[in-house]
Amino acid sequence: MEILIDASAGCCPGVVKAIRKAEQAIGEGRPLLSLGQIVHNEREAERLQKQGMRTVLHVDEGDAAGYMLIRAHGEPPSTYAALDAGKRPYIDATCPVVLRLQRKVGEAALRMEKSGGYVLLFAKSGHPEATGLMGHTRGLGRIVSLEDLPMDTLHHPLEIFAQTTMDPEAYEAFLHRILQERDRLRAPSAELHIHRTICGFVANRKESLTRFASSVDLLLFLTGKESSNGKYLFSLALKANAAAHALGGPDELQPEWFRGVRRLGISGATSTPVWQMEELARVIREHYASIEF
Ligand code: SF4
Repeated sequence: MEILIDASAGCCPGVVKAIRKAEQAIGEGRPLLSLGQIVHNEREAERLQKQGMRTVLHVDEGDAAGYMLIRAHGEPPSTYAALDAGKRPYIDATCPVVLRLQRKVGEAALRMEKSGGYVLLFAKSGHPEATGLMGHTRGLGRIVSLEDLPMDTLHHPLEIFAQTTMDPEAYEAFLHRILQERDRLRAPSAELHIHRTICGFVANRKESLTRFASSVDLLLFLTGKESSNGKYLFSLALKANAAAHALGGPDELQPEWFRGVRRLGISGATSTPVWQMEELARVIREHYASIEF
């Protein structure tokens, strides 16, 4: 059985930067507290925890001398205020793409405050990036989805943004519905600004992942359970190849998947490190490659 690793997979620059900052702090012997799971990849978080990093959920948890790591998803301004108030040292590993988006959302909120409008965030409710972005909306933000159209806002000025890891096609479908509903309600005179803010690193994976998935007999997609981009990218892989499975690691492999497989492909989310894909390939070579069916 031939085993291929998707050359376009691996961690995105934002995740690489956060992991590097964590490793650097651990290497310098600083007590390190990740504010929330550092990446949506349980095994990568565990690897760093074994080296000494602790994960906490609130800024007032853990050793007061510990450096709080702000992960790639970013945080709302209230988190920075709480860190400053508690005199807690911190390391900011917010992805530059998310930082830019937070700034644009903040500027839009200022404009909407003046014109009586709203900031709509096409985002996953409860996702840390969405929480961080909401913190920049001056109370004028709404988390919205295709299933939950914000009908009461359509007569008002609007600025619309997407969380960086959302499905680009779903965002376009949402925008299309908003425009349709505004026309139907005869509200097109109200100001409307659409911002296309899905991260290029996620959007650009579509073509290469689709090609890769359709070139193999079996596609194994490594992702953390909570990863938004993992869910989106896996849905693309599944569309291209019905023999695709999402999994967290080698212990979830099932022997029957390998029946009749000659070419096996391994890919992953933007928070799946290359070492995990290589490890999966190694385990398959050792335990499954010679299975006779
Ligand atoms: S997916 Fe894009 S925005 Fe999100 S952390 Fe990675 S590089 Fe940054």
